[in-house]
Amino acid sequence: MMGRKGSDQGQFFYSFNLDDHVPQDHLLRGIDRFLDLSDLHEHLAPYYSHTGRPSIDPELMIRMLIVGYCFGIRSERRLCEEVALNLAYRWFCRLSIEDTVPDHSTFSKNRHGRFRDAEAFRFVFEQVLQRCIAEGLVGGEGFATDASVVKADASRQRHHEGDDDDDWGGGSRAIDEYLSALDRSVPPGGQPAKKISQTDPASRWASAPGGPAFYAYSTNYLIDTDAGIIMDVEATPANRTYEVASTQTMIERVEERFAMKPQTLIGDTAYGTAQMLGWLVEKKEITPHVPLFDKSEGKAGLFGRSDFIWEADVDRYVCPGGKSLRRNRRKYKKKRADITKANVIIYRAGQTDCAHCPMKAQCCPTQPARKIQRSIHEDARDLVRGLTKTQAYAQSRKDRKKVEMLFAHMKRILNVDRLRLRGITGARDEFLLTAIAQNLRRMAQWLGTGPPVALAEAVP
Ligand code: SF4
Repeated sequence: MMGRKGSDQGQFFYSFNLDDHVPQDHLLRGIDRFLDLSDLHEHLAPYYSHTGRPSIDPELMIRMLIVGYCFGIRSERRLCEEVALNLAYRWFCRLSIEDTVPDHSTFSKNRHGRFRDAEAFRFVFEQVLQRCIAEGLVGGEGFATDASVVKADASRQRHHEGDDDDDWGGGSRAIDEYLSALDRSVPPGGQPAKKISQTDPASRWASAPGGPAFYAYSTNYLIDTDAGIIMDVEATPANRTYEVASTQTMIERVEERFAMKPQTLIGDTAYGTAQMLGWLVEKKEITPHVPLFDKSEGKAGLFGRSDFIWEADVDRYVCPGGKSLRRNRRKYKKKRADITKANVIIYRAGQTDCAHCPMKAQCCPTQPARKIQRSIHEDARDLVRGLTKTQAYAQSRKDRKKVEMLFAHMKRILNVDRLRLRGITGARDEFLLTAIAQNLRRMAQWLGTGPPVALAEAVP
């Protein structure tokens, strides 16, 4: 017999418990178990007035943003609608069934104002990371680093013409922010941008394989390779020089805030510059598991660097013909610095030795004498050369994929493939929120759901 639903929706009184309507295995229950924002009010207190109308609770806004970034809801307007309708989202945000959801314009005011001034997102990121460490998800021995390009919210057609700072038209927050930071925007070794966006000038014109170029920022991750927990995140313009510099910033910040320094750092060829390897080995005592950026082997059929023997105690190379290659072979009246601007020292063979050598055709067929460039960080490069055939290095190549998987997850599941906020601070906010969401999801998925556990209870 066909049934018909009997009662209407006009009932006056309901017995309703929100908690009963959130499934026990819901992802948000797992996240809620590990998210402790009890110190947030104290952190933000100096940025709120003591008088006037009470603001929207900042914890509510942070919880709503976490819902948005965990479930790929990028639009703040849509996020407010979803929180109003979805019982699990309401439960996570500590809203009752009758509570009003804040208006979407509230997010914009707070993001660009006191949240940014107070570095609220970095505070939450570090609170979450602290919890990951306390739960034993961070080994602290091996870190991996990489960068991923994310499109900026900038039109490809609108470029800035000329170098005149007054010629911008002005008015936008992203432009004001860029102009105020203009003098310090290029790191050592970097190049000023050739093409500058009129809508988001701090972004960089980036080419993508198989597609048209676009304006973009890079998100830089430093992860622990045990469970793939993000140890730090940094937003930079999409440019290799900035990306490599940001890894140094992140390693130093993790050391300063959490007293953690890895024994090994895994990265791709971009991080294999002599300067970066020298910094890792000589200054930080970190072993780089990074492919060398190396052009020293030269053309096929000719002697490469590895055919020459380095004798450190007498500061020379010995060639396959048994002759010495020395620095400062040429005598100048006025003494010259023998380290070039690129931080290399040139070792030269004697012209007489090479002119009579039977191996000249294999060694320096077009030059009067052979020369070899040696970086001032060559010892660090030699260390890396020695590592490349080890089992640990082979394992590191596999571990490096953990960063790439996080970037794929960020773009495909969390929908962070194009930024919504402009300026480097907008990119920083979005990347921090993404990293918070990824660390919380990882904790919830690895450690399971259950009742909320205070940190003091979880860690004896
Ligand atoms: S050409 Fe010069 S550097 Fe090369 S093997 Fe002969 S002597 Fe040595």
